[in-house]
Amino acid sequence: MKDKDRVLQALAGRNAGTAPVIPLSFSQICHLQQMEPIDLAYDPTPLANLLQQTTQLFGFEAIGILNDLAILPEAAGCVLDWDAPWKPRIASRVTAEQVLDLNPAQVLEQGRFPVVLEVIRRLKVVAGRDRALVGILPEPFTLRDSLIAEMQPGYLEVSLYQKISQLLIEALRKLCENGIDAVIMVADHCTHGDQGPFVQTAAKICKFFGVKSIFYCRSTECSQSHGTAFDAVVRLEPTDGLDSKIRRGTVLRGRKDLAGAQNGALFYVFDEDLEPDLARDPGQLRELMELIKGS
Ligand SMILES: [Zn+2]
Ligand SMILES: [Zn+2]
Repeated sequence: MKDKDRVLQALAGRNAGTAPVIPLSFSQICHLQQMEPIDLAYDPTPLANLLQQTTQLFGFEAIGILNDLAILPEAAGCVLDWDAPWKPRIASRVTAEQVLDLNPAQVLEQGRFPVVLEVIRRLKVVAGRDRALVGILPEPFTLRDSLIAEMQPGYLEVSLYQKISQLLIEALRKLCENGIDAVIMVADHCTHGDQGPFVQTAAKICKFFGVKSIFYCRSTECSQSHGTAFDAVVRLEPTDGLDSKIRRGTVLRGRKDLAGAQNGALFYVFDEDLEPDLARDPGQLRELMELIKGS
């Protein structure tokens, strides 16, 4: 079976043999090439080539495109600090009023979002035949956190929620149109309020395009089911007692998660931002990948 089919099978809740690994990489590929992120970020040719090479090097079954949650804030007018270590940092944010004035279609033509789409189109031609192409987006509250300065925690008024959701739905549609096989929506906190309308629309679009949907909660104390509309949920640690219909993914965390391979994890996510030391150490990461495949 192709690696890509194993990923899709795992996301459909079926055991695909050894659990396939979906990497969330961007800084990792820059580090491996000893390049600064800014020298790669705007050029789809080396980005596509290096994503493909990194996937081959470690034997990942998927290619995550692209693990930088500053892409949409940048397109929406935030200013990035490219000298920050590891990841570009959002140096200046926009106001809620500016967000309300955004035109989603225009935003998605700015910054690096067109680069992301071009990378997907290029990878689709060769690497994407055998490996699953996985788009990466923040969920609405996580995008709000990075877009807007000085918001009350947990506060998101309806009009702002609708605008941010619109932007994300348009972004998702474009990722789907350009050929992703799955999308992973990243949440920086577990307790981000009711996401009902957004989740329903996002799931509908994914179904229409035949794209698998994954919700990824980065909270260490995840206690929510996170929308049964998605095909799969990824947590830092698998938690019992949550909706068993949701496919269980888990995050690859050093060696200790190897036990998880025999523990009901259908697939893994390797997140360079949670495991930066592992991401910087190709020898150790390869060893880990070999252990997973051998188990
Ligand atoms: Zn948050
Ligand atoms: Zn959670």
